[in-house]
Amino acid sequence: MTKCPLCEKGALKKGKIEEEMFGVNLGKYDGEICDKCGESFLDQDAMLKIEAKAKELGVWGLAKNMKVVKSGNSLSVRIPAKIAHFLDIEEGENVLLYPEGKKKIVVEVT
Ligand SMILES: [Zn+2]
Repeated sequence: MTKCPLCEKGALKKGKIEEEMFGVNLGKYDGEICDKCGESFLDQDAMLKIEAKAKELGVWGLAKNMKVVKSGNSLSVRIPAKIAHFLDIEEGENVLLYPEGKKKIVVEVT
């Protein structure tokens, strides 16, 4: 029996783990799930399969570090082409912008 490295109480059991990235379902993969805390662990092979699937679905590498720039009296953050394409938004479209706590900005495509 393998002990859970996270909670150190539960035992890891083999199971299928459902993966998603940016809200896109990537399918189920073999891994181990803790019977106490529920944390799941994937092996290297599953990680590679997930990466391949994410690339196939166009969600791999969507998160990007961007710089805040000055634009008149406002600040501006560019939306990378890849994200614009994923969200299917174009120039001139209206989006809803709001903070979600002190560390996150949500740009909602309406
Ligand atoms: Zn655990």
